[in-house]
Amino acid sequence: MNLWILKIAFVVFMVGNWVIRYPFEKKQKKNTIVVDQKTTTEKVLLFLVFLGLFILPLLFLVSPWLGFADFEAPIGASIAGMLLIPPSWWLFYRSHKDLGMNWSPSLEVREGHTLITNGVYQRMRHPMYSAIWLWCFVQALLLPNLVAGLAGLVTFGLMYFIRVPQEEKMMLDKFGEQYENYRQRTGRILPKMSG
Ligand code: SAH
Repeated sequence: MNLWILKIAFVVFMVGNWVIRYPFEKKQKKNTIVVDQKTTTEKVLLFLVFLGLFILPLLFLVSPWLGFADFEAPIGASIAGMLLIPPSWWLFYRSHKDLGMNWSPSLEVREGHTLITNGVYQRMRHPMYSAIWLWCFVQALLLPNLVAGLAGLVTFGLMYFIRVPQEEKMMLDKFGEQYENYRQRTGRILPKMSG
């Protein structure tokens, strides 16, 4: 597929993600935080994800510096990338909406935090991370460059595997048995259909 079409599709995708997140980002700044687990590791991981999801794709879009890693994308991959955009946006939006004021970009518990177990949280515990996995797949399928394309999967993957156990422990400390029950009847990033 023409490189310009791929680049435009990717920019539209990223702008959409920003439009979805920005209002929630603004609202949650008003929260009073009672548990803050923003450790150095967490800050480094957040920075790496920023690098993988924004900086490297941007370099690919506007500079020739990553040219050494360019390749010719198979048409099927480009089409699959575009088809994944609507479900990725939908889940990204729904998870923000359902989590409401309980959402924060980092590991935190806010004043008056409630455990959300409905909407897209009904059968899985981490739908927002599922949406970000989809985002990373869209990036890998749309950007025909090994570095910029795979940077999302690698950096978010690292953050996901380190953060999820810490986040679940934090939720368990805060909500105890209620979270344990919730954990048993839900899947991590895929909906659990049985039980
Ligand atoms: N892991 C979730 C949420 C990501 S946002 C997802 O992927 O959908 C991270 C913050 O959300 C955490 O700091 C925690 O405070 C909060 N959180 C995670 N799961 C929650 C739930 N079920 N109910 C309420 N808050 C939750």
